[in-house]
Parts: sequence; structure tokens; C-alpha cells
Amino acid sequence: MVKFKKLFSLKFVSFIFAFLVISFSLVTLVSCSNNEIDRVSKGLTTYEITAKLSEDMKILGTEKVIYKNNTGVSISELYFHLYPRAFRKDAIIKPYTSLTLASCFPNGQSYGDIEIKNVTVNEGKIEHIISGDDEDILNIPLNFSLENKKIVEVVIDFEITIPNCTHRFGYYNDNINLGNWYPIVCVFENGEFNKTPYYATGDPFYSDMANYFVNFTYPSDYSLFATGERIDFNEELKNETNNVTKLSAKAVRDFAINLSKNTQAVSGKIDNTTVTYVGYKSDENMQEYLNLSLKAYKFFSENFGKYPYSSLIVVKTPFIYGGMEYPNIVFISDSIDDEDEYKKVIVHEIAHQWWYGVVGNNEIKEAWLDESLTEYSTALFFENNTEFGIDYNELIDNAISSYTLYVDVIKSIRDSVNTKMTLPVNEYQNDYEYSYMIYVKGVIMFDELKNAVGEGKVVSGLKKYYNDNKFTNATKDDFYCAFKSACHKDLESFFEGYLSGTTVIANLS
Ligand SMILES: [Zn+2]
Repeated sequence: MVKFKKLFSLKFVSFIFAFLVISFSLVTLVSCSNNEIDRVSKGLTTYEITAKLSEDMKILGTEKVIYKNNTGVSISELYFHLYPRAFRKDAIIKPYTSLTLASCFPNGQSYGDIEIKNVTVNEGKIEHIISGDDEDILNIPLNFSLENKKIVEVVIDFEITIPNCTHRFGYYNDNINLGNWYPIVCVFENGEFNKTPYYATGDPFYSDMANYFVNFTYPSDYSLFATGERIDFNEELKNETNNVTKLSAKAVRDFAINLSKNTQAVSGKIDNTTVTYVGYKSDENMQEYLNLSLKAYKFFSENFGKYPYSSLIVVKTPFIYGGMEYPNIVFISDSIDDEDEYKKVIVHEIAHQWWYGVVGNNEIKEAWLDESLTEYSTALFFENNTEFGIDYNELIDNAISSYTLYVDVIKSIRDSVNTKMTLPVNEYQNDYEYSYMIYVKGVIMFDELKNAVGEGKVVSGLKKYYNDNKFTNATKDDFYCAFKSACHKDLESFFEGYLSGTTVIANLS
């Protein structure tokens, strides 16, 4: 995600790239054979979701989860996050704060929810339990012991109410964001399921790779953009009032949808991937943003490792923050007025496809591990793609001066300042502290490493980290291991100095 704005100053230089314009109202049949994805997808949990969005902003759905027990132990219960519960009226832990309330709800306070109607396990009805820190977890007793590597079939019937808001999950004007909308299995680690609630700070999500087959019905005046490949329109069910789109996404860690009445799309093909930029119908610079997206895709693929999926969609939408990443699709806020800032957010969210999308991590506990890498990858892109007019040195200078100013101001108010990059997202005092420690300091840390070992080795470290950890959830230790191998040097104390806050950053300019 991008929360921080106005870090860059640049002039826009358009770069003409080979592209092709397609209309997303047409059937797009994808017959891409991807051996790596096919191989990785075997043995993963599979979600088969059939859902119908109605005009009153409710979704009736059924989710069949063919859960593969990859925990390494026998389990007798399953747990699912019910993220839409965070938007309900009586939620205690809310995904917004008093500071973001007004921009989240431009039409006034609104509520959303997910109600679990029925649950079956291996076709037998089960009495489910709603639990968790804020009644945001679906607890499904299996009533038997599911051994490691064995499979269980769980079917969940649900009804979702979408709030009228500009958040990851919400509708506003002619657009609907469906991020974190369906029941998703909690990650099992250290002997238990991770049931972290939907905090307001950071991207408080953590999930495993899975396969998705989604059959989504929606009012026919909307266009749909989503994770995965559009495999078919279901012509039998399509009628004057509804469209039905079938999607397949293998080896992804989440499934997001964006629906809109007011967008146009342009696409370009690169390698075996279709990159699509979705803007509003009134927008004129569609191709420029598509070109930027294609260049970002190319740069990250060449330097970190190949993007393994056949689709990448960059979609403009109402959004409370700068942008948000989901597998194969990223949301870019329509409220960004500054053109340079808009481009920076596009590149940042695309970089997340490598750091979050393919190489996952616990974004609650180790937010820096995807955000700092993503923010520095963005800087690297602009340094090596100067036609977009963002000056790398200016970017770093701005990061150092704004960071040191922030530290000085906080010290003057509170006597002490937290400079740790390793706090869980909910322990940062506010979005500012989180942003300065995770994004701004992250960029400074990597630039300092670049000064010490050279850009080539930093890129080699990132490449090694990507290739050694793709399709898994990585940790700090995996990151250290990759950089040690790539740089032939133990850099743990260097990183620990920044992460723990003991390294002091001085503004020497
Ligand atoms: Zn981000």
C-alpha cells in the first residue's frame, strides 16, 4: 500500500511503447500454459466462490474450500478471517481512524458486514463459531482430526453488505472495491492459526498461496477487473440485467475485484502477460500510464525475476490512501492530484507484485519486509528509467531531510521518538510514525546499503531473495540469508542497526 504522498518531484515524459487497445466488455479467452504456476498450484488449498452482487450492494455467495492441510500437524479446527466484519457498526477494532474517517466516508458513516448463513464440512452441517479479538474470525470445528497433507471440504454460505466508503472494501460513486471481502483461511504457524484483526494502520494481512475459481454475477452496467484470468463469460446465466464472469487464479495469496461504470481500459502484451491500465472515461493520458506500467513490469521482471502470471491490472478507483496491492490487480487512488505522485504510486503498487504478491510475508509483524523493499524498488525504477523525470538523488535527499525533520519534531514534543522498523503495525502510534519508519527510512536504509556495496549487489540480493522465496511466506532471516549469499558478506548487523533504531540517520546537507 502507499500511504505517504509527495515524496517525488518530476516532470512527466511520455514514452511510446507498443500497445494494443482492447475492450474489457469483450470475451477474453486465456489459454496460457504456465508450467511454473501449474507446478506450484498443485497441493494448495482451493477456493471455489460463486457470488452475486446485487444493486443494493449486497453479495450473496457460496464458497467451497478444498483445504489441504499443509500445517505439518494434525488439526481439528479451521479458522477464517471475516474482514468485512471490521466495517460493522459495533466493531471495536476499525480499519479507519478518526483522522481518516471523513475521507473514508465522504457520504457519511456507513457500515458493512459479512453474515455466515451456513457451514458444512464434508457435506455435513456444522455449527460454526464467530470468535477472534473482535468477533471477526470464523471458527469451524471439524469434529475429526485432519492429518497433515489430508484434505477437507468446507462450504460456507454468506451474505455481504458493502459499506458506502472509499476503503479497500466499499462502494463510492460508480466504483466498487472488493478487497478482503470473502472468508479466507488464517495462516497456521508456530502451532496456531494467526487471527490478527483488521487494524487501521498498514496492510494488516497475512495469507497463504491458494488457487481460486470464481464465478461472479454483477449488474450488467458494471465492468469487472479482478485477480486472475478471465476464463469465460457464462452465457447461459447472462441476461439483460446481469453479467456473469468466470475467473481462475492459481497460486495467488488473495483475490480482489474492482467494478466500475465509468472506466476505460488499455492493454499491452509483454512476455506472456497482458498489462492493463484502467482509467476513467474522461481521462486522456491512458497510454502514458499504460507505458509506465509496462516499463515497471519489464524493469522488475528483468532485475528481480520473471512475473509468473498472465495478467496485471492497474485500476484507478476511489481510494482512501494512495494505492493498494492485490495479486494481479492494484488500486490507484483517483484523489491523487499530482501527476508525478500518481506515477510513483503506480510503480510502487506494481513492485508489490514481487514483494507481497509472489514473495509473501507477515505484513502485520514485518511490514518493512514488503513495504521498504517496494518503496526502494520504486526508487530504483525511476533511477534506471530517467525518461519519467524522477531524480533518484532528489528522492533520497527528500527522504533524509523529511525523516530527520520528523524525528526532530517528535523529539521536541515527546522527548523520545520511536525509530524501530520492526513494530507490529498496530503498535505504531499513528500513520505518520508508520510511514516514516517503514517507507521513508526503508528507502534510506537501502540507499545506504547501495553506497556501501554498490547497486549491482543490492539488486542481486533482491533477486536472490525473490528466487529463493517465491510462492512462500518469507521472514527477515530469509532476507538476511539472500543478501549474505548475494553480497558475500554478512549484512545482518547493518540491517539490524536500521531495523532496531540504533543507527542514527543524520541530514548532512
Ligand atoms: Zn506499499
